[in-house]
Amino acid sequence: MKKWQEIEQFLKLIHQDHIENQKYYMFGYQEEYKKMEVVNLGYIPFYDGKETIRDIDILPDLYKKNRPSILKKCTKYICIHDTASGAPTADGKAHKHWLMNMANDKENQNSVSWHFTVDEGGIFQHLPTDEVAHHAGDGYREWGNTYFNTTYNRTCITGGNLNSVGIETCVNFGSDYTRTMRNTAKLVAELMIEFDLTIDAIKQHNDFSGKDCPMTMRHANRWQEFLHLVKIEHLGKTRFNDVVFNWKSLTPEIIDNTGKIINHINNGQVDYEVEVEYNNEKRKYQFTGYLNHLS
Ligand SMILES: [Zn+2]
Repeated sequence: MKKWQEIEQFLKLIHQDHIENQKYYMFGYQEEYKKMEVVNLGYIPFYDGKETIRDIDILPDLYKKNRPSILKKCTKYICIHDTASGAPTADGKAHKHWLMNMANDKENQNSVSWHFTVDEGGIFQHLPTDEVAHHAGDGYREWGNTYFNTTYNRTCITGGNLNSVGIETCVNFGSDYTRTMRNTAKLVAELMIEFDLTIDAIKQHNDFSGKDCPMTMRHANRWQEFLHLVKIEHLGKTRFNDVVFNWKSLTPEIIDNTGKIINHINNGQVDYEVEVEYNNEKRKYQFTGYLNHLS
């Protein structure tokens, strides 16, 4: 297929004629943040092709608890969680410090760990991606099998701890979880390329143990939406890494230059353009969408 045709198809995949909004709940373990109602006004997932900025702060393996320093035999999955911590301060940085304090505390026998924490602002890396971490609740079972999890009375897949990359998404109240999902999709697409994985390799913590995690995404029915975001990011990074996309809102009172709806008007019209640069040629495309009624 001609490259420009392929680019146009990609833009159509990103565009939405009708932009949905959603009222949903974020769930936390703290009593005051158990069930927090939030609103997603909607968005169009503009693809910018930028690398995600990672704050890399690898845990020390002083006591080999939350960093056991075991090399994986292989990486077959990406395991998505949410932190279930609803406190407004429970962002990526807070989780990084929590893990770091644990790693430096000889008396703390907690061995929980994961590779990345993602919040609305960016990505925090805690462990090398080729090392085992303890986050999936399936013990030390190599990938490729199933087992019966007696805590949740469910048959689950194996390889969560031994053969996956664990990602925690932050659900701190007041944060933009949609932005967190979009940041996570970028990271997941990068990991799919690094480990040569397909979309089927993206799993929920739930698949490995039966635990209701990532609870916020699951209860809001946003898993398919998340996979769609990953698909766009992966396609962009694999097929269009030689293309530059510059997005511009033409209705800046309604949609910003990242594609986020910032102001809702029932049946409001959303106009934007994207300037695409490929092979020293620039083309401009304009799109129009409409906001659905507030749910
Ligand atoms: Zn989890």
